[in-house]
Amino acid sequence: MIELILATQNRDKVKELAHALEDLEVRVLSYDDVGGWPEIEETGETLEENARLKARVVSERFGKPTLADDTGLEVDALHGAPGVYSARFAGPEATYADNVAKLLKELDGVPKEKRTARFRCAIALVDPEKGTRVVEGAVAGRITTKPRGAGGFGYDPVFLCTESGRTFAEMTTAEKRGVSHRGRALDAARELLQQWYLHNH
Ligand code: IMP
Repeated sequence: MIELILATQNRDKVKELAHALEDLEVRVLSYDDVGGWPEIEETGETLEENARLKARVVSERFGKPTLADDTGLEVDALHGAPGVYSARFAGPEATYADNVAKLLKELDGVPKEKRTARFRCAIALVDPEKGTRVVEGAVAGRITTKPRGAGGFGYDPVFLCTESGRTFAEMTTAEKRGVSHRGRALDAARELLQQWYLHNH
């Protein structure tokens, strides 16, 4: 069976990624499964560059197929911020709660119709022989004025998904996967994995 490393240390992402790849004949390996790797600085200016960078470094280190995701929240009233800096919005050591608090503060007084936003996710797949491919997914929504819901992670409690009318934190993992940026990018990534590894068997 093909072994695929998930090049992220974020357990919340691993949960979503592993869940969405569960039915494929692919054995998913986490950071702990491979014994870890040194921190990778996200120096790219775009989500795509960062996803490529992470997947490539980890794939080269272990000589195995690797998947990496880079995600950003783009808020129109903030001219696309935090975007590629979503993880570090409130500072280098920021927690999810710090980032959410900063976002709500920056949008203080901004009316509902101007709080539009989108999540974008780039997923890079690297195979030592087949090369690198990047796929993307996006989802539209609006930033709420207060956190809502207990599920998900990161900005989920303040991201009101247009399609479902609920915040991502008010949805189950399976519901979020059905409409989310990562879910959509994963659909494309799954197709590629099938082409690469499963069609010829
Ligand atoms: P990165 O992709 O590791 O650079 O993470 C970007 C940041 O965006 C994370 O630290 C989270 O705070 C946030 N984030 C990533 N994916 C999601 C998601 O699916 N929902 C909510 N927030 C997310």
